[in-house]
This record gives sequence, structure tokens and C-alpha cells, in this order.
Amino acid sequence: MPDKPVLKIGLIGSGFMGKTHAFGFASAPRVFDLPYEIELHTLADRSDAVAAEAARAFGFARSTGDWRAMVADPEIDLVDITAPNALHKEMALAAIAAGKHVYCEKPLAPLAGDAREMADAAEAAGVKTQVGFNYLCNPMLAQAREMIRSGALGEIRSYRGVHAEDYMADASAPFTFRNDPVGGGALADIGSHALATAEYLLGPITKVLGDCATVITSRPDGAGGTKTVETDDVGRAFLRFENGAAGTIEANWIAMGRKMQHDFEIYGSKGALLFSQERFNELHFYSAADPAGQRGFRRIEAGPDHAPYGLFCVAPGHQLGFNDLKAIEIARYLDAIAGRAPEPFGFRAGERIQTLIETIQRSSRETAWLETA
Ligand code: NAD
Repeated sequence: MPDKPVLKIGLIGSGFMGKTHAFGFASAPRVFDLPYEIELHTLADRSDAVAAEAARAFGFARSTGDWRAMVADPEIDLVDITAPNALHKEMALAAIAAGKHVYCEKPLAPLAGDAREMADAAEAAGVKTQVGFNYLCNPMLAQAREMIRSGALGEIRSYRGVHAEDYMADASAPFTFRNDPVGGGALADIGSHALATAEYLLGPITKVLGDCATVITSRPDGAGGTKTVETDDVGRAFLRFENGAAGTIEANWIAMGRKMQHDFEIYGSKGALLFSQERFNELHFYSAADPAGQRGFRRIEAGPDHAPYGLFCVAPGHQLGFNDLKAIEIARYLDAIAGRAPEPFGFRAGERIQTLIETIQRSSRETAWLETA
């Protein structure tokens, strides 16, 4: 068999997501028949020392404290951005200009206009892109979508989506890039996931009525003072879908006790589905066709019937983990780069999520229903 071409990766950032991406690049070749050999070429971070330490830990051959030098390196094929949101645009545009494929964490950019510029640049350059909406890679979401499309739930009537965590619930926690008045806030940070999941499952959202609230109005600035917070702690919206369903989403990063409530409930004329990311190897299905006296939610447990679960583990019920979702995302993205499949969630799709976020924020300010097109 001929050797596979080598794809050389340049990773920017080594925090929470940098490590998750490094896990994904390490495990994807051991699970999937990828179209490329992966070479972990260079890791860039905010200083030479931080980058060198992370490169050693994550298995990258080289490191640099200057991401621009890495992006300009002609050897690198794919630039992977896991830096704070405000840096995504500059980094991605530089990488696209250098002819690299770009994998970028969500939210794609602080503003929809920035995201559009990034998507336009990538399409003009002919490079392949991916935004990190890893929850969409859960085989149980594919199972849910298949059940919706096959009519198992009948006509879809209503949807409830939520993404709630408590990592900002402590009012003494310092102001971070997530509080940046341009593009920060709970709706952008985690509501982006809730919106991506809602459209993945039910199709386009056509109208929104938003309510975005700042509850913790100032935070320590890290230098002994305080800083006013303008971004939302709780972002909610009523939704109307093109398929006629009515719904809601909530993004909440001060939901004390919640660690990863990326959940949905879908109600149709013949059945319903419940899902919780805190137990993301399960899907709960209610069928109105079950005999009277025996109706109730049944638990569908992830297993080899739910591709690509079986590539990770032959035994059902043994469960996938968060880092596995990144490996799936990477495998699908590499298939797109090789021309074996369309981009699963490229920059144009990332722009769509930014547009939804901005429309909900504007709707909240104007207290009015707004079209999302
Ligand atoms: P983090 O603070 O843990 O990591 C950020 C990294 O970027 C750090 O290594 C930091 O040193 C580096 N960095 C900062 N400035 C830099 C610069 N100028 N040059 C090079 N590197 C620089 O943050 P995080 O939680 O990993 O979030 C990073 C991105 O990932 C954000 O866009 C966030 O929204 C996204 N994210 C996505 C998910 C998901 O599930 N897909 C989860 C968490 C975060």
C-alpha cells in the first residue's frame, strides 16, 4: 500500500482546548483510517517558554512564542487555532493568506461580520476550514437527527435547548477574554453550541425573540481593581423553526452546580426525545405507539450501532468521552481536506452561528421578534 501523504499541523494555544485538540490528533489516527499521516510540527503559544513546555507534553517537534512565524512556515499545512476568541480572526486570515487549511475553535470570531470575512477569505483561497462544534460529533446526536428525519417522532412541534455551566458563577472570578464586550458573553461562549445543536437537529431557525441579561455587573480585573461587565451571563431566546416548530434556547454560565448541561428536549406528534450532555452516551425516546400502560421514556445506550462508536470500542455501554468527540471532528475534517467528504462545519457554518447570536442580542436590545436570515 502506498504511503499516505503527510499533513503537518501547527497548533496555536495549549490551554483547555489546545490539550483537547492534541488528544484528538493523537487518537484519530489510531481509531480512523485517515487520508493523511499526521505530523505534529509546531506548537505556538504566548511565549517561547510556555510553547516549549506544551510542545514537549503534547508531542510537537518544534515550538515558538511567535504564532506569526509559525503561520508563515511553508512546511505547515494546517493551522489549528485554540487561542482566545478576539485573536481568531487575525490568526485565521494570516493562515489563509499563507495558503493553510484552518481549524478554529468556536465562536469563530467576535462579530458576524468578522466571521463572514474569514469565510469569504477561505473560500477565495480554496482552503478547507473547520469550527470546533465538537458536540455535533456525538453519535447520539446523529441518532436523534436520524429519528427526527425518519418520522419516528412524527411532526416536530417543539424544542427546548440549554447549555448551562457554572464556571462564571463565582462573582470574585476575574474578568477574562470571555467577558470581552466585543463578542463575549454566555450566549456567544456556550449559546453558540446550543444554537448549533438546535439547527443540526431541527433545521433552520427563522425568527428569534432574545433576552440577554448581565447579572454579575463587575469582576476583579486581575490588577487589584474591578472592571465593569457588559456581556450577558444568561442569554435566552424564543425560537421559530422553518419546519413550524416553536422552541427555546438558554445559555447560562452562572448555573450553580451545572457542569455540562448541553441538553435538549424535542416533542413531536408521535414521540419525544430527551438528551443530556452530562450523560451523553444516552438518548431517551418516548413513543406514543407503545401499548397503553407500558408507555414511558426508554433509554437508548451508545454502542457499535451508533457509528463511529464501534471504531473506538467494540462493546456497547462502555461509553465515549469528551476528547473522543474531538477525534471524530478531526477525522471528518481531514476527510474534507482530502476531498472525501464536504466540510462538516466550515467557516460559513460558523458565520451562521455568529449571525444567530447577534440577531438574538439585537432582539434583546430592541425587545422585538427578528428574522434570522
Ligand atoms: P485557555 O485560556 O485555556 O487557552 C488559551 C490558550 O491560548 C493558552 O494556551 C494561551 O496561552 C494561548 N494564547 C493566548 N494569547 C495568545 C497569543 N497571543 N498567541 C498565542 N497563544 C496565545 O482557553 P480555552 O478554554 O482553551 O479557550 C480557547 C478557545 O477555545 C476559545 O475560543 C473558546 O471559546 C474555545 N473553547 C471551545 C470549547 C469546545 O467545546 N469546543 C470548550 C472550551 C473553549
